[in-house]
Amino acid sequence: MKHLTDSQIQQFVFEPAASDNACSTHIEQCAICRSKVGEYQMLFAEIEKLPADSFDVNLEAIIMKQLPQPSIHKKEDKMLWYGIAAVCFLFVISVFLFFGKELAVLFGGVEWLTTALIGTAAICLLAFLAFDMYRAYRVKLKAFNFE
Ligand SMILES: [Zn+2]
Repeated sequence: MKHLTDSQIQQFVFEPAASDNACSTHIEQCAICRSKVGEYQMLFAEIEKLPADSFDVNLEAIIMKQLPQPSIHKKEDKMLWYGIAAVCFLFVISVFLFFGKELAVLFGGVEWLTTALIGTAAICLLAFLAFDMYRAYRVKLKAFNFE
């Protein structure tokens, strides 16, 4: 007697309507194939009883630890800006200290009103550029969600 294949038995267990009559009559008559059917039914019943897969580690804690922390970044940024301001201030002071006489000669020939106009225009331009740079920096920071 030729026994049923594994795939025929699986089809009989899971899709009884799709399996043909020859298979079901063989299973009714053959104890070996009937026991295989019983094993498959028991195996899949046990698999369905198993709990859903889950991690046994706390993933949330591990991930949250690796996320950037905004408060530290803000402090570092402030220190960076203070540093840049201090360097600029020292640079301007040293330019006046070392090249004061040359600057006096440079602007000595030009009339007072022209010098004032040039100075005002330069200060306004620098202030505008600095403000624009700072605004662009804030926009980029917001894009990264650091604040
Ligand atoms: Zn059989």
